[in-house]
Amino acid sequence: MQYKANQKLKSQLIALVAALIAFVFLYSLFEYQRQKDESNAYLDATAYGSVLRAEVDRELNSLLFISNGLSSFIKVYRHTLETDKMQAILADLWIQARHVRNLAIAVGYKLRYVYPEKPNEKILGVDYREVPAQWPKVKLAIQHRQGVLDGPLDLMQGGSGMIYRFPIFIDGEYWGMLSTVIDTDAFLKDTFKTVQRQEFDFAIRTADNRHVFYGNPALFQQKHIYIQESIVPNGKWEWAIENRKIHDLRDRRFGVLLSLLLSILAGWLVYLFAKERYYLSEGALMDSLTGLPNRRLLESRLNYVHAEAERFNKMFGLMALDVDHFKSINDNYGHDVGDEVIKQVANALKASIRDVDTVSRLGGDEFVIVVKDQHSRESLIKIAGKILQVFKKPMLIHGQEVTVHLSIGLTLFDPAAGVSLKQLSKQADIALYHAKQKGRNTYSFWQ
Ligand code: GH3
Ligand code: MG
Repeated sequence: MQYKANQKLKSQLIALVAALIAFVFLYSLFEYQRQKDESNAYLDATAYGSVLRAEVDRELNSLLFISNGLSSFIKVYRHTLETDKMQAILADLWIQARHVRNLAIAVGYKLRYVYPEKPNEKILGVDYREVPAQWPKVKLAIQHRQGVLDGPLDLMQGGSGMIYRFPIFIDGEYWGMLSTVIDTDAFLKDTFKTVQRQEFDFAIRTADNRHVFYGNPALFQQKHIYIQESIVPNGKWEWAIENRKIHDLRDRRFGVLLSLLLSILAGWLVYLFAKERYYLSEGALMDSLTGLPNRRLLESRLNYVHAEAERFNKMFGLMALDVDHFKSINDNYGHDVGDEVIKQVANALKASIRDVDTVSRLGGDEFVIVVKDQHSRESLIKIAGKILQVFKKPMLIHGQEVTVHLSIGLTLFDPAAGVSLKQLSKQADIALYHAKQKGRNTYSFWQ
């Protein structure tokens, strides 16, 4: 059974709209969840950043306490300081402190003590004011009267490190400078050892000159990177913390694809549903032009009449009708008149038969009539004659007279012969063909 073209288009349109709505809905849902996950991932990165900063603070503070202790010691014993004693104190502090490359003391601006001496002895006697790379931070520490963390920078004795400079003031007067040189890499690696996590990547740089001294510098160039600041003695560090999950979360392709597939599926289901609904509706059983049963309903009625005839040993008649030279009517009067002819033929046929019988339009100018309880050729021929008689008079269509004739093929179902419905329809068609052959506007009986 052919699914009507306009109905098909309607179902397709409904399916398309359903698919679109499904897509918008699914994608919004996906996007909402994605954004939620993304902000959670940012929050995780923030929380992780706080853990990292706390670790650095803790480790740095433990190192910086050394300076405070040493400063107090110097203040008390400044008059009896001897090189051997100083070296012994520095050695003891150095052993206790992890990741300290050396400890140095300048009296005034000149470096006088350093531990370990090797390979740092070359810095002894150096005047800070003559080292342009270090003097500004030294000056800053003296001006502010507080510790300053410098670096990481290239050290005079070679290698790289952070230097914590702590000025000593005695009775309000500047006395000298303590320097704790921290091995940056070893210090940070050890600090982060216990808090390193697979899903995060991070880098650290100084806020003033933007020198990246830990991690991948490219992280700072990334668009959606989370940047935090931390305070170090008299300075700031910036942290770029990346949650690797955000990379995957920012990729919307999966969501688009999934929403697309699901909405296509939804559209397809709606289409099938609409189609099914149409098949079950009256519209699917009626011919839209004439309101007569269509081929589908005819088949079902025929099946019923056929089964009934076999069961109760009854006969019934089948007529195949076709308008003669209908193409010419279309050609001469136009398609609208042609349609009107089809409608009037339908009405005329309906009026010619009983209510219990069925007139159906198969399409075009073809009709079929099922006539129940016909037990002789003659009774069927009588009905055919009556129909032909109706068409003797021209039809009045849009004010003009149109001559419409039909040809009719007749056949009779006899349960004794046990003919199939398919065969019976074929017989009616052959009979119709014969009627056309005989010159039209007539009937013909099969055999
Ligand atoms: P024949 O006597 O051999 O039947 O000649 P015919 O011209 O009637 O030929 P046929 O039955 O094969 O042609 C039917 C024509 O009906 C073909 C098509 O142009 C026309 N037709 C089919 N459906 C419609 C319709 O819904 N409306 C109109 N106006 N014409 C239709
Ligand atoms: Mg015809």
